Amino acid sequence: MTIAHASPKWPHEPGTKLKDFHQERTLLSSGHRRADLLKLTDSEFERHHGFIQWAFPTPEKSYNNFSAPLLDLGAAIWLSEDPESISFLEKMSVRFLKFLKDNTHWKAAYNHNHLRITRIIHSLRMLHSFELAQWFHEQVINLAGDSYAMMERPRLYWDVQSSTLNDKIAGSMLGLAIGDALGAPVEFTPRGEFPFVEGYQDGGRFHLPVGAWTDDTAMALCLADSLVHNDGFDADDLLQRLCNWAEHGENSSTGISVGIGQNTLRALGEYKRTGRLEAEAFGAKNDGNGSLMRLTPAVCFASHHLETAMELAALQSRTTHASPIAEECCRLTAALIFKLLNGDDYYAAKEAALALGWTEHLTQAIGSPLAGVDDVLVPSGGYVLDSLRASLWCIENTKSFENAVLLAVNLGDDADTTAAITGQMAGAMYGYAAMPQNLKDGLVGERRLYVTSQFLARNVLPSNGRLHLALSEDF
Ligand code: MG
Ligand code: MG
Repeated sequence: MTIAHASPKWPHEPGTKLKDFHQERTLLSSGHRRADLLKLTDSEFERHHGFIQWAFPTPEKSYNNFSAPLLDLGAAIWLSEDPESISFLEKMSVRFLKFLKDNTHWKAAYNHNHLRITRIIHSLRMLHSFELAQWFHEQVINLAGDSYAMMERPRLYWDVQSSTLNDKIAGSMLGLAIGDALGAPVEFTPRGEFPFVEGYQDGGRFHLPVGAWTDDTAMALCLADSLVHNDGFDADDLLQRLCNWAEHGENSSTGISVGIGQNTLRALGEYKRTGRLEAEAFGAKNDGNGSLMRLTPAVCFASHHLETAMELAALQSRTTHASPIAEECCRLTAALIFKLLNGDDYYAAKEAALALGWTEHLTQAIGSPLAGVDDVLVPSGGYVLDSLRASLWCIENTKSFENAVLLAVNLGDDADTTAAITGQMAGAMYGYAAMPQNLKDGLVGERRLYVTSQFLARNVLPSNGRLHLALSEDF
């Protein structure tokens, strides 16, 4: 049987100002169109200030508030998916490096071009890739030569923008989706009753096309959108977005929501009827894995503050899965992912997360090493603690992102979800740049997922205590 799929519905529209500029329909106040910017002379490059904000948009306000629009999620997704805009971004980066190469005045302790460099690294990372942002940063260091030592202050800003934390955040978010998409065709199939999965396939209970993902990723996107939109957690907004997904297919990979779990269905129905913001505990059935499989946006958003990351993970769980064990699994996984994002190796991260203190039920299940444990002792159904244990087992028995998620998929049963949970952790361990290209290329909505992950990544600067404060006090 084949089912015709509607096109994906995204809850974002690109802001028209940036879109018009990138479609060569807007003249800047300097009289230039986009294509003209590549032909500016060095002195024009130095003199015209506004163009840099159009050519390299970011979500942050410039020190000098020119007419250029701020980058929002809708515009960022549109730009990242538009080959012409991406090609312009690449060419403009090279043009700027040539400007730095041919001039020496910026080789100082402070120069206004340093702000431009921060902006460019930031913009490249959000719209293009961590790799290009990092490459650009390296070129700047090379061009600065001995003067680099003088640039103490701007260096801090550049380092934040091309930090591996951002790559790991992308890894965790995309890892979730890749695991989901690899597992979807064999979800609900018992272990051993399907040919070994080695890559994306179509089919499964929902008859999805190759590389499409299910409820796990869709709900993670709803959580990510909600955190970005509100600059914090708002249960009402999250539940509304989950309803828009369930009812209208927003944030689904095909335009139709698939795979909604019983707990979530019930909680969303209750929210619609009564406005209830926290799911009722329904007993053992409520111990499902539906809140664990989607949690990484909460950790990515609070990647500089452990307690906040754990609290957000618990808060998002309670909207649909309010059982103590679901919440505990979410808190522990948030701690583990937090440590991985911040550079701990897996075993150090697991030890640190376990040391935070948990019920015996949890520590008994996952406290001891899982490497070498026979897979017959590793159930992979919908019970949240089983899913967490199976995911850790997949990581401890493999040495790469790909092998970890494929091992999870081939456990069968709730294959997409075990692989999504494994992918969140393995992605944070190995980082996005190191993941196999074919898994990125084949993933539906890859650009959208990447850009969203970078909107989650906060830019906490060493000198900026305000965000630390906001994260510790506002939740
Ligand atoms: Mg699913
Ligand atoms: Mg599932």
